[in-house]
Amino acid sequence: ANNDIQVKRTFDEKPGMRPVPNPVLTFEQAFKPFPDILQEIYKQDFEMPSPIQSQAWPVLLRGDDLIGIAQTGTGKTLAFLLPALIHIDGQTIPREQREGPTVLIMAPTRELALQIDKEVSKYQYKGIKSVCLYGGGDRKEQIKVVAKGVDIVIATPGRLNDLVMARHLNIINFSYIVLDEADRMLDMGFEPQIRKSLFDVRPDRQTVMTSATWPSGVRRLAESYMKDPIQVNVGSLDL
Ligand code: ADP
Ligand code: MG
Repeated sequence: ANNDIQVKRTFDEKPGMRPVPNPVLTFEQAFKPFPDILQEIYKQDFEMPSPIQSQAWPVLLRGDDLIGIAQTGTGKTLAFLLPALIHIDGQTIPREQREGPTVLIMAPTRELALQIDKEVSKYQYKGIKSVCLYGGGDRKEQIKVVAKGVDIVIATPGRLNDLVMARHLNIINFSYIVLDEADRMLDMGFEPQIRKSLFDVRPDRQTVMTSATWPSGVRRLAESYMKDPIQVNVGSLDL
């Protein structure tokens, strides 16, 4: 695979924007202030950050929005997940007092959602809990788990929209939102569910989007939901 990497502002450069941060070369460089996260990474026996992680971590840790364009198997899950864990822990309102979960990860299919959930469960950080919501899963049970209290919701757009409309989830509580494999979600016709679910999203949230390609539909979604996103492209792409 071609691991050429490009990083830039997605839309117009505006005066006063911070420059794009330099990539980190090691896990220590990225997570020095978070020894518990480093411990969790060491358990995985990874050698070094993947190109997308090198570029994504400093962007996400400083709170900027990020678009990651990369093929499968490039390590996108950890690229958005580890900053998500730190985001949850860094909220000013203690976790017990929050109205609902903090992080929302949307994925196109049940299989992909379950894969992300599996990855999430490998990282034990401050007792952070997740739930995976997808069509065909036991809806009552999902609602029960959400009501008991979780920090991360991983969901397919259909079931998410269903639970948001039925007021089992209040989208305004989410302050870190990931649209994983956005191009596939659009290809599968999920745009209406995504837009309906995100109708009431909080303006001060952080938003991440990943995609293998960069078609106009994905670009429009980014324009609607992201604030001055930094874009990282990995591999050879027709851009
Ligand atoms: P993507 O979402 O880009 O398709 P994943 O995030 O699912 O890719 O990662 C693919 C695999 O690579 C997973 O098994 C994951 O544990 C592993 N992985 C992630 N980061 C690294 C790394 N820095 N070094 C080695 N393997 C990694
Ligand atoms: Mg993935």
